[in-house]
Amino acid sequence: MQLPAEVRQLCDEIGRFIRNEVDPRSRWIEENDQIPYDLLQKARELGLFGLTIPEEYGGIGLDLAGKCAVEEEMGKTNYGFATVIGNHTGISTTGIVALGTPDQKRKYLPRMASGEWIGAFALTEPQAGSDPAALRTRAVRKGDRYILNGEKIYITNAGLANVFTVMAVTDAPKGIKGISAFVVERNFPGFSIGRNELKMGMHGCTTAPLAFTDCEVPAENLLGGEGMGYIQAMKTLTAGRVTIAARCVGMMDKLIAQCVDYMKVRTQGGRKLAEYQGLQWMLADMSVSRDAARGLAERAIETIVRGERGTIEASTAKLFNTEALARVVDCAVQIHGGMGYMREAGIETTYRDARIVRIYEGSSEIQRNIIAAQLLKGD
Ligand SMILES: Cc1cc2nc3c(=O)[nH]c(=O)nc-3n(C[C@H](O)[C@H](O)[C@H](O)COP(=O)(O)OP(=O)(O)OC[C@H]3O[C@@H](n4cnc5c(N)ncnc54)[C@H](O)[C@@H]3O)c2cc1C
Repeated sequence: MQLPAEVRQLCDEIGRFIRNEVDPRSRWIEENDQIPYDLLQKARELGLFGLTIPEEYGGIGLDLAGKCAVEEEMGKTNYGFATVIGNHTGISTTGIVALGTPDQKRKYLPRMASGEWIGAFALTEPQAGSDPAALRTRAVRKGDRYILNGEKIYITNAGLANVFTVMAVTDAPKGIKGISAFVVERNFPGFSIGRNELKMGMHGCTTAPLAFTDCEVPAENLLGGEGMGYIQAMKTLTAGRVTIAARCVGMMDKLIAQCVDYMKVRTQGGRKLAEYQGLQWMLADMSVSRDAARGLAERAIETIVRGERGTIEASTAKLFNTEALARVVDCAVQIHGGMGYMREAGIETTYRDARIVRIYEGSSEIQRNIIAAQLLKGD
């Protein structure tokens, strides 16, 4: 995909940052389930928190193509670190950028661009996962405030975030058109963040439940008017799916490179692994999957950047790329043999990290539902 020179330069710079600063700390992040403060600080200095925030608010103002180019690069490093940045610059800021009033943007975006305030996006609830229309969190207007009651679960970045985009029902009889989005600050009265979940992968990136108990949110923190929440959430998630698809391409790239290196040095039966046709074919299939994934991600990016909705393209890329990553990482473990199962090589970490992409931001089954629904309605 053709990218402006400045985006290519930015990706090169991020690539150097990853290799010099993040990769050497990856094992520590994995074992301690947190990102070192000084590493977050370096990411702030590099402008990583402002990637998608418009320049007038202190960010870099990347469009979806630029964001995906960065995601591909970030796919080559620690998944938890990549998620902290990717979630903040994706689903956690796009709602404010798209729907925010000038006052909301002036208040939140500069501090989010600098990384002083980190963002989170809160849609999922105990009873509303794949079916967000089942939300139970309620927001009732009282004078110049909304009073929120309800709970959210599995919220990425919750442990670090100061600014939460929260979906809540303002008009239940209207169904999904009665869902609204609110900007909730960490210290608003009645808002609390639960304990960090222990996860299979994605270590370093916090995931926690949220509780709203008569939580007072100023009316001016409603995003885009009542009833705009679900529509905006779906747009946000469509773009988010493409960025995940792009990150998967980077992850596959890295796995293929690791396998090539290993196959050239490891000797068994008097021959390098690289000489065994069974493994060569595995490697070839991994490369075909990666290239097809890249093509689908690019098609989705181009469709959305052209101004079209890109629903089917985004879901196709998310479905294919996340499933392809599962096959590729499985082959990578196989090619590394016992070493693939050991923490030392890092492949085992990617194997666990890769599992999440088929679940969040719409599981594989939900992507299939979306694709089929689009085909059947003839869009
Ligand atoms: C690590 C992690 C981070 C997350 N981060 C966030 C976040 O930042 N913000 C946020 O709002 N949410 C977040 N989530 C929530 C995530 O988006 C949901 O977990 C996901 O949408 C699935 O919902 P569920 O867990 O309730 O599973 P369920 O909806 O209960 O699904 C269970 C199974 O049933 C299948 N299924 C459900 N409905 C259908 C259907 N209609 N047709 C076919 N199959 C179906 C699913 O595909 C799945 O296999 C995160 C989750 C995890 C695990």
